[in-house]
Amino acid sequence: MSSSETNPFKIAQSQLDNVADRLELKKGIHLFLRTPRRELSVNFPVRMDNGEIKVFQGYRVQHNMARGPCKGGIRYHWNVSLDEVRALAMWMTWKCAVVNIPYGGAKGGIICNPKEMSQAELERMTRRFTTEISIIIGPEKDIPAPDVYTNAQTMAWIMDTYSSIKGYSVPGVVTGKPIHVGGSLGRNEATARGCMFTIREALKHFDLKVIPPEQWRKECSEEELDKDICDGDEGTGYKLNKATVAIQGFGNAGSISAALLSAKGAKIIAVSDSKGGVANKEGLDIPKLIEHKSKTGSVIGFEGANDDLGPKQVLEFEADVLVPAALENQITDENADNIKAKIVAEAANGPTTPEADRILHEKNIFLIPDILANAGGVTVSYFEWVQGLQQFFWSERDVNVQLREIMTKAFHEVLQISEKEKVDMRTAAYMVAVKRVADAIEHRGIFP
Ligand code: NAD
Repeated sequence: MSSSETNPFKIAQSQLDNVADRLELKKGIHLFLRTPRRELSVNFPVRMDNGEIKVFQGYRVQHNMARGPCKGGIRYHWNVSLDEVRALAMWMTWKCAVVNIPYGGAKGGIICNPKEMSQAELERMTRRFTTEISIIIGPEKDIPAPDVYTNAQTMAWIMDTYSSIKGYSVPGVVTGKPIHVGGSLGRNEATARGCMFTIREALKHFDLKVIPPEQWRKECSEEELDKDICDGDEGTGYKLNKATVAIQGFGNAGSISAALLSAKGAKIIAVSDSKGGVANKEGLDIPKLIEHKSKTGSVIGFEGANDDLGPKQVLEFEADVLVPAALENQITDENADNIKAKIVAEAANGPTTPEADRILHEKNIFLIPDILANAGGVTVSYFEWVQGLQQFFWSERDVNVQLREIMTKAFHEVLQISEKEKVDMRTAAYMVAVKRVADAIEHRGIFP
């Protein structure tokens, strides 16, 4: 693979190849895992508001289902490609395996510009796409969820369309639904909350700007303790002692990470979205910034900032922690050398190219890989699916406690392999995940 490779599928394959030898994977299993099990490509017509018919192209790719039904989001973006969806599907297989939830990996996407479409057009496109892919999705087969530029509303349309086809309500066909149609409390925040837990474990590991629970409990108010219990910490979690954080992307993953990290005591000093970035070394007021973005559509022009940045400049900002939470290929061989953070937590999928990975490792930057850092979303999706199948719904506190336990355990399993095998955290996470999937394939056997 060339050093400037940015094809996400080639990158995903090379990440698998990187651990195949270390794990002594059988050649046949390695080859089976290098390519998706099923790919569905659909072209379908949608009536636009002006009466015109537009044809959209979409995909649903199922990478592997050895450990359970496939799971993965649906993305609406003008740059969606089959190779991108293949990569994202493969990463989902590893992500579910690294946190040890009983799913395989899938992903879907439509090539479209959701920013230029009305709600009615988005609804018609979503419903028609659901019909097209209904032959391969379902609660026992493949369960979509939100991703870039899709949200709880999109999931409600998918659930309603699929249920209309079946003739009865099927809440388990998607996760990330609104609460009143079977969504889970805590799902909207789950990716960010999981990411926050891994960042906190990393800061604890380096004993960097953390306050032990015994100490902060002496100082905290009743209200803070109640909030902590709802957060899944039960008053036993560490607080962050003004650890500084820069975040690229201010959507679901980025803005909620900012909110949760700042509530835990971190100082968010720089953030960006697709239009630009803002910074304040004293710390940005995150609730106000979220309000500003929802009113104006961007973080730019925020009154509480004293510096303007380009969307990518935020990556090179001097901070303890950098959270890329936008898209793939943001940290490359061109800018990796300029990254100043001590910890990089990949809330986004695939933000770092393999060449940049090598540079960050050489610079001793501790990277929490995407398949671990952002696995909180799929973990609470799993809780939502379980709740939907049982029609028995949990409290937010229960969701967050279970999430904390899973994320913390997974972080330490990966860290342990990384230290034992003397490899970076991405390689270690792949070693844990690929081994679990390969073991499942071996145990199930090759049919016939
Ligand atoms: P989103 O649509 O809610 O937000 C995306 C954000 O990125 C927006 O603020 C957008 O303005 C910004 N952005 C786009 N291009 C940018 C650029 N070039 N520079 C700076 N910012 C840019 O999407 P999301 O759900 O937050 O997903 C973000 C990333 O997190 C994706 O890689 C996604 O796959 C990953 N992820 C999301 C979830 C989830 O549950 N939402 C779970 C796991 C992984």
